Amino acid sequence: MPVPKPPFPHLLAPLDLGFTQLRNRVVMGSMHTGLEDRLWDFGKLAAYYRERARGGVGLIITGGFAPNREGWLLPFGSSLTNSLEVPAHRRLTQTVHREGGKILLQILHAGRYGYHPLVVSASPLKSPISWFAPRELSERGILRTIAAFSRCARLARAAGYDGVEIMGSEGYLLNQFLCPRTNQRDDHWGGTLDNRMRLPLEIVRRVRRAAGERFIISFRLSLLDLVEGGNTFDEVRLIALALQDAGITLLNTGIGWHESRVPTIVTSVPRGAFAEVGARLRRELRIPLIASNRINTPELAEQLLADGSADLVSMARPLLADPQFVSKAAAGQSNAINTCIACNQACLDHAFVNRRASCLVNPRACHETELRYRKVRKAKRIAVIGAGPAGLSAACVAAERGHRVSLFEATGEIGGQFNLARRIPGKAEFAETLRYFRQRLSDLKVEVQLNRRVQPGELHGQFDEVIVASGIRPRVPAIAGIGHRKVLTYLDVLGGAPVGARVALIGAGGIGFDVASYLLREPPERPQALGDWLADWGIDLQGRTAGGLITPRPATPPRQLWLLQRKAGQPGAGLGKTSGWVHRAHLKHQGVQLLGGVEYLQVDDAGLHLRVNGEQRLLAVDNVVICAGQEPLAELADGQSAWHLIGGARRAGELDAKRAILEGAELAARL
Ligand code: NAP
Ligand code: SF4
Repeated sequence: MPVPKPPFPHLLAPLDLGFTQLRNRVVMGSMHTGLEDRLWDFGKLAAYYRERARGGVGLIITGGFAPNREGWLLPFGSSLTNSLEVPAHRRLTQTVHREGGKILLQILHAGRYGYHPLVVSASPLKSPISWFAPRELSERGILRTIAAFSRCARLARAAGYDGVEIMGSEGYLLNQFLCPRTNQRDDHWGGTLDNRMRLPLEIVRRVRRAAGERFIISFRLSLLDLVEGGNTFDEVRLIALALQDAGITLLNTGIGWHESRVPTIVTSVPRGAFAEVGARLRRELRIPLIASNRINTPELAEQLLADGSADLVSMARPLLADPQFVSKAAAGQSNAINTCIACNQACLDHAFVNRRASCLVNPRACHETELRYRKVRKAKRIAVIGAGPAGLSAACVAAERGHRVSLFEATGEIGGQFNLARRIPGKAEFAETLRYFRQRLSDLKVEVQLNRRVQPGELHGQFDEVIVASGIRPRVPAIAGIGHRKVLTYLDVLGGAPVGARVALIGAGGIGFDVASYLLREPPERPQALGDWLADWGIDLQGRTAGGLITPRPATPPRQLWLLQRKAGQPGAGLGKTSGWVHRAHLKHQGVQLLGGVEYLQVDDAGLHLRVNGEQRLLAVDNVVICAGQEPLAELADGQSAWHLIGGARRAGELDAKRAILEGAELAARL
């Protein structure tokens, strides 16, 4: 009988580093969760790492820890500076080791990205995304910084870490020293490339001396800075070779600075977009290289390893989304993986406003000790009405706990609003969440009834609990002429209704922006080729120019759009912290007119009449599309005080998939 081929042979192959072995090629990349900032949260942090290590991750890299006060990201934020903190860290390392994993402490000096008045940098230049201007490090300050990195590594070793990662990318301090953009010094720490790389190299040498040979040192290097005044690829290559000679064990890769105006990790970035840059560098190195950025499936990770683009693959957000990513891949069940959709809504958007991270598709992430799905002693019969994100989440968690669940859906498919989201250009990843839920419902034997509209009073007495997740209906604003034939709802448009060449969109929330980008792609379902995406954003993967930036290709939009809101100010202010700017920049590049402070007067054959800044205007458009928010659709629950309302059916305002999935999970965890 032929022996079945093991799944993902490259991804699951161990890596021998000489003095230590990694059990596979999966690296859980560094991600600040907020739990690192207070030692009393380390129990929760340990539980978060335990689940990922138990799920089979080879190497975990912690969120960033500053080596001194100047290097803090936030006032009194995560740092490792004295031996009193070692026992708390030992709890993390022991937890991971017990599960067979390895763990590195990331040493991150924020430089001018710190959010506090003590910030320092190579030169006294404030970043466009910072509040505080940095002080230029003196020669003595630089020597103290080197000593601080070395002390931090010694403490990490004492705490049982298998090594450290030195953060040298994303525009943090060492990246600031490496690039002319931020290093304008004329002493031997600035100017030529040899001088600019002196600080990172000195740090690596001192860390190696302090921690010894049998200790992993990973250096995260920016391969494409994607900012003006960044390095060219030739310079990056020379830095990587010098780091290798200075004694690093692994070279991890980063793309883009936080202040870069080119997206690098959001959903619309094609999967594996930057892998080719790492592949080019890997050919020159003796040490293993770690690929990163928009790698979210075991299939893609396997392909990058198999084709020689990298030796290891770093995934941070995908392991928030599914702690069992590796074990499911190893069992040949990649279909059961809860895939990260790169939305940033619960992870980075939280981290950047100093909230604990979580995950939109997995609300247990970073809440493992608080949101628990305990098995029930007595199974209940539970009905869930509506198979949108809230209903799916509730049905799966209830069934996982052992309840008998029936899921009723009025349409012919599960997914609710996710079925609209996946049609938006650059949001195809939402289809992965639906694939996951479909698989999960089947594995958990949830009884799914499609095309089944529950009638009022129908479920009486048949179930122990009824959960109403019937969602929302689009709001139709009271504007004169709103019934005119040229007016469409966003549901009509995303459902394929013909749309003219000049279009006004009423409402500029997440859906207004999404519908605008849908109308800017012709045909909308055609995925954008990597080459087109790179040209639109002005990225040269060859890195021939400083930072890898070139002039973006001029836009050729298929339609003229106006995106409108009544609130004063620029539309789009309420979009996600780390993704909103991408949507705004994309629409501006495509020539969309964004108007705030609008009063809608009437729709008629001539178009949309409105008043802006006291002045009456006519937008001579072919269509007006309503994207004016939603109202709850919950009549079924009228008079049923014992029934549970979740998601949009409970409250339509500020509804998003994050809240819907969380509400479903929290309720089902209690029943
Ligand atoms: P939304 O974000 O609440 O936006 C509704 C828009 O309609 C606003 O621009 C609002 O602006 C306007 N509006 C509200 N009432 C109106 C009325 N009576 N007449 C005219 N205009 C009116 O809702 P949404 O865009 O439908 O999105 C729904 C949810 O999905 C949101 O929570 C959103 O965050 C989420 N979502 C997120 C994304 C994402 O990219 N992260 C994408 C899609 C959806 P004015 O009141 O100023 O006119
Ligand atoms: Fe991925 Fe979104 Fe979850 Fe962040 S919140 S890990 S981007 S799915």
